[in-house]
Amino acid sequence: MRATMMDYPLTLTQYLERAGTLLKDSEIVTRLPDKSLHRYRYGDFHRRARQLASALRRAGLERGDPVGTMMWNNYPHEECYFGVPAAGCVLHTLNFRLHPNDIAYIANHAGDRFVIVDDVLLPLFEKVRPEIAPERVFVVALSGQPVPEGYENYEDLLASGDPDDDLPALDERDACGVCYTSGTTGRPKGVVYSHRAMVLHTMAMCMTEPFGVSQHDTIMPVVPMFHANGWGLPYGAVATGARVVLPGPHLDPVSLLDLCQVERVTFAAGVPTIWNGILQALDAEPDRWSLDPRLRTAVGGSAASEAMIRGFDRHGVRTIHAWGMTEMTPLGSAGVIKATMGELGEDAQYDYRAKQGIAMPFVDMRLINDAGTAPWDGETMGEVQVRGPWIAAAYHNSGELGDKWTEDGWLRTGDVATIDSEGYMKITDRTKDLIKSGGEWISSVDLENALMGHPAVSEAAVIAARHEKWDERPLAVIVLKEGAEADADALQGHLAGDFAKWWLPDDYLFVDEIPRTSTGKFLKSALRERFEGLLVGEGGG
Ligand code: AMP
Repeated sequence: MRATMMDYPLTLTQYLERAGTLLKDSEIVTRLPDKSLHRYRYGDFHRRARQLASALRRAGLERGDPVGTMMWNNYPHEECYFGVPAAGCVLHTLNFRLHPNDIAYIANHAGDRFVIVDDVLLPLFEKVRPEIAPERVFVVALSGQPVPEGYENYEDLLASGDPDDDLPALDERDACGVCYTSGTTGRPKGVVYSHRAMVLHTMAMCMTEPFGVSQHDTIMPVVPMFHANGWGLPYGAVATGARVVLPGPHLDPVSLLDLCQVERVTFAAGVPTIWNGILQALDAEPDRWSLDPRLRTAVGGSAASEAMIRGFDRHGVRTIHAWGMTEMTPLGSAGVIKATMGELGEDAQYDYRAKQGIAMPFVDMRLINDAGTAPWDGETMGEVQVRGPWIAAAYHNSGELGDKWTEDGWLRTGDVATIDSEGYMKITDRTKDLIKSGGEWISSVDLENALMGHPAVSEAAVIAARHEKWDERPLAVIVLKEGAEADADALQGHLAGDFAKWWLPDDYLFVDEIPRTSTGKFLKSALRERFEGLLVGEGGG
């Protein structure tokens, strides 16, 4: 017997159209740069996203053409999330926290034909513009200032489109978005998402477990929309009709808590750095805010500590710990407690919730170490490898696959973990040596190479040091050339011209030699062991 179902393409356009007709009264709230709130409904959002799609096509963009965005979490960005793919184009969210050289590299590598920029980010964009060649640049004027000369107004672009224009019929395997990741060594790599991957990822994310997103929710993506598709929340909202609250550029704990309170947010997502700050604010003034009793948070990007999960529980806010990566759209696993595990004591529950959790539906997961497939005994470590319909099978135009994929087609995540007999994964280490500061990667190799460019430096290894606020910060371990002299200030000054400020090491340690592996590479694990207890930054030494 053969299946008799229609072969209907899974495209984001369907979510957009349904939202514009069946869910048109749901609201999107944006905190603007001056902190006032902009509100409109899905009906308006739908019309404007369609106008954008029409305008891009009328302006000559074709299927597969990338459109860059350099934007905060705001309603025009949400319009781009749907309007760009609905035109058959590819949304390229630029991570504006990168160094301008990297942003330029990424925009050029993707071949962004148009770029859309928030006016408050123009000073940053100006540093990138001489290095890139988009045909047109549009400015979103949310701060009320006129659009400067040399730029076009995003509103004029919209006005050139007609919401009633037909949208192109798309194939579910067409590209809808691209994010670049610095999660591996070398230059950033492009992960190109298909409509099909995004639609399936959205559905899985919204299921009752893990995140249970519905039109009864008010959801607030704190995770930047430039990072791994804002973890899929901008799509999940429109797919379900959830009310959306977008915080714009105001990400300090008090601003976020005020917004949560006033707009009755029920679901928010972000990295541990953000939540640690919020927890400290709540602990300091426990009676200041009255949050919605349904408020829950998805925390990922780095490990959510058990202490943080317990801390939020004391304030009635439930933390859902999730793990993923840009190459996985990003959701891979989440810390849900299985009903079949029976009555668990309090400590056991926290133990499970602090793990990275069980694999999502459609995410096949295995653990591989030198001995082959590692047993799921909660003790044996191995590299987590995954495959599934929203997991990358290659990088954009990067030639060789390198060692990121196994011969039998699994993605090597670079994360080392144990998995227990119930299937709960717990990350213990990373195979790669990058540093994750406040949810964003810092490449130790790039810093090392630059440091070793200083005339007084013989060897430099940069490792992740624990940091109270940012989770990890770079710590540079330096061997000076014999007879040469350079102090921390000199080295910092040497790096300052080439790296974003937040990439610069927090501290420098001068040693006689750096331990090496048998093949002559720096043995960073030994350095990490040696300096493990060193806490840099606030509260540290
Ligand atoms: P990115 O592609 O920037 O999202 O980074 C992905 C990497 O972040 C993963 O390979 C992990 O190393 C790390 N990561 C993400 N979520 C978690 C988590 N919940 N716990 C620990 N590490 C995480």
